[in-house]
Amino acid sequence: MSPRYACTANPAPELFNTEKLGMNSDALIKDFKRYYGTHLAQDKGCASGHYLYSSLALTLRDRLFNRMKHTKHTYAEKQCKHAYYLSMEFLMGRAMGNAVLNLGLEKETTKALNELHLNFEDLIEMEHDAGLGNGGLGRLAACFIDSCATLQLPVTGYGLRYEYGMFQQRIENGFQVEKPDHWLQDGNPWELERPEFTQRVKFGGHTEYHPTDSGDMKVHWVNTNDVLAIPFDLPIPGYQNGTVNVLRLWKAGATDEFNLEDFNSGSYTEAVAAKNEAENISMVLYPNDASENGKELRLRQQYFLASASLQDILDYWVTTHGESFDNFAEKNCFQLNDTHPTVAVAELMRLLMDEHGLGWEKAWEITSSTMAYTNHTLLPEALERWPVNMFGRLLPRILEIIYEINARFLREVATRWPGDKARLARMSIIEEGGEKQVRMAHLAIVGSFSINGVAALHSELLKKGLFHDFYELWPHKFNNKTNGVTQRRWLAWCNPDLSELITDTIGDNWITQLTELKKLEAYAHDKAFQKKWHAAKLANKQRLAKLVKDSCGVEFNPEAMFDIQVKRIHEYKRQLLNILHVIHLYDRIKRGDTKNMTPRCVLFGGKAAPGYVMAKRIIKLINNVASTVNNDPDVGDLLKVVFLPNYQVSAMEVICPAADLSEQISTAGKEASGTGNMKFMMNGAMTIGTLDGANIEIRDEAGAENFFLFGLTEDEVTELKPTYNPRFIIDNDADLKRVVNLLESGHFNQCEEGAFDDIIAAFTSPNDPWMTVADFHSYVEAQQRAAEVYQDKERWIAMSIMNSANSGMFSTDRTMEEYNNDIWKLEKINPRF
Ligand SMILES: *Cc1c(COP(=O)(O)O)cnc(C)c1O
Repeated sequence: MSPRYACTANPAPELFNTEKLGMNSDALIKDFKRYYGTHLAQDKGCASGHYLYSSLALTLRDRLFNRMKHTKHTYAEKQCKHAYYLSMEFLMGRAMGNAVLNLGLEKETTKALNELHLNFEDLIEMEHDAGLGNGGLGRLAACFIDSCATLQLPVTGYGLRYEYGMFQQRIENGFQVEKPDHWLQDGNPWELERPEFTQRVKFGGHTEYHPTDSGDMKVHWVNTNDVLAIPFDLPIPGYQNGTVNVLRLWKAGATDEFNLEDFNSGSYTEAVAAKNEAENISMVLYPNDASENGKELRLRQQYFLASASLQDILDYWVTTHGESFDNFAEKNCFQLNDTHPTVAVAELMRLLMDEHGLGWEKAWEITSSTMAYTNHTLLPEALERWPVNMFGRLLPRILEIIYEINARFLREVATRWPGDKARLARMSIIEEGGEKQVRMAHLAIVGSFSINGVAALHSELLKKGLFHDFYELWPHKFNNKTNGVTQRRWLAWCNPDLSELITDTIGDNWITQLTELKKLEAYAHDKAFQKKWHAAKLANKQRLAKLVKDSCGVEFNPEAMFDIQVKRIHEYKRQLLNILHVIHLYDRIKRGDTKNMTPRCVLFGGKAAPGYVMAKRIIKLINNVASTVNNDPDVGDLLKVVFLPNYQVSAMEVICPAADLSEQISTAGKEASGTGNMKFMMNGAMTIGTLDGANIEIRDEAGAENFFLFGLTEDEVTELKPTYNPRFIIDNDADLKRVVNLLESGHFNQCEEGAFDDIIAAFTSPNDPWMTVADFHSYVEAQQRAAEVYQDKERWIAMSIMNSANSGMFSTDRTMEEYNNDIWKLEKINPRF
């Protein structure tokens, strides 16, 4: 730590009193004016939105930081157990609306701004999304910490402060084009830099063993290239309860002496280059969703997060409890969001042994009783493995520890299953044969006392398949925690019209007790209520239609069925199946088969990983089909198709309230949970979906009659696989045959010969892992059922109400209660602010 931040002065105690700031419009106006006129020194002539936005953000932030300090003091006073959520991604989106809602300042803020002749919505729109995540996994982390604060659980999030978040997607000539997302360009008023808590993270070098006075060996990791980790704190407010937790994000920086050495030897430019190398660690988020990357920089990022966070936590422990770690495990718990931060298992061992002098047994007892691991996917391509060579070069001490963990673990396996060599090889943390690899999932399982999947089916499949050996060894470690979403952002904030109707009808307890929505069932067939429900949906559809018009130039008729699939573009999510159905509808229209056809507006959105060629081709196909369909005078208002560019959290806030039909059509057994499905359900959309991930639970809750089910089950997929013959299916399905003929004839190619050959080859291959063709017929039938029901307005609205009414269990408040009851076991703390 720089001496600048050492505690030197001893000021009057009153300096540390937390001032209670006014929560009415007058107080807000006073602060807003001071920020605008004095702090930001804005003058007459021009009122740029940026400074107005900043002034409001700073006004709110003061109120958040006061509560954050107070919450922290309360936790310290109570000496309560604390959980830490370690995640490489936090897909936070915008902070302002959430701050206003959770501070209970909606009315007063609007009033204050009106008095200043300003519009709240305009300021909201000024904020750049914090896109520090890829998709579901990162958004889940954001919903989790929101719910923890609302439940008053002492939970801190730890992540990376990427300079560049998820890329901005543009569509040019139908192709995805990636633009860097320099989200911090105009500053970030929601963060507070805390240089006084800077940590040092080691890379490279080698280990030396020195005997201590007591005769033990002490390990020194020396000759390292150190990088500084500088924390930035973001306030995470609970819902109107005085609690504000912390999300601490690390930025990488160069150490002083590193630069100084090179500078003294006269190589100024090398010194600057070295600085760059250090700062690179937190420069950019890897834009791969559900596939591993394997790049050394990614491993650097992972260790940087794990090491900085654990050092920070241990420093806090030592300042509050001294060097005894006897009850550390009673007071601390770490939740690993997928394998990304799993190197924390070995890092905690290192810190406890090498830095705090504990022996192996004691350190292992602490580590293996404080680490908990959440698995997010069964896809083999997502399982992280690091080449042992690279690992050893970058983190030599950590690799030694992993080898020791593995040796002891394999002894346990050998004792349980004597002579079972194959099992040892399967379970080993080190994969032999070819280039040796460290299997991060195995390290996570061995090092954790809890392993959970994210939906009922997913957790069962983990035990049955991927982690079966481990389940046999440690059945007690395995559990399920079905995902959720926070209803504060995904209903209360993003759908004000519907929220108001719900609150007028059943009161506002649903904002913190989502199962209260069940009371809406009584109104599902109430004509007056239905009318209001429909009016809210229509207004939301108009809002989305405007967004579509502005960004795609296509007119969506709000009376038509809004059929929506937004999520990362991935073959397993089967956007391809959806577009094949669109082509089928287009084909029907061209053939004049339009009797009783339900007009539809189909919206796609989502980003493809920049290196994922097939996913990018699918985007191109969607865009080409869209332009053919939208420009064909025969089609008219019966069918519209758009690909909405740059799908992100703030876009979803407009999209999910406006959906009639939510597309959740992954190949059964491939989607771990899904959370987009839950946002749609909460906002009264009907799901068309397979029995996959949380869809199964959604259907159980909504009732089978309020869900459009189609497709093979996971068992059927497995069973069909060996004899799968898509060409045969196509030849025997007239609808599908015409769709494939249109594609093969180049009808959507727009003068680009062979543009979709790879796509055709993929879905017609007997080895197609996603079995798109197998589900086509069943999908078209389900779509037809949905289209027919949509024409029966009253029935559709009743079903819409039933979906919302039964979405209670998909709140992350429920999910977090379960994590806490089964894994963390934290005491809820009310800071009474
Ligand atoms: C909810 C959400 C996701 C996850 O969607 P799935 O359909 O579950 O894959 C991804 N990205 C954003 C921006 C989201 O809001």
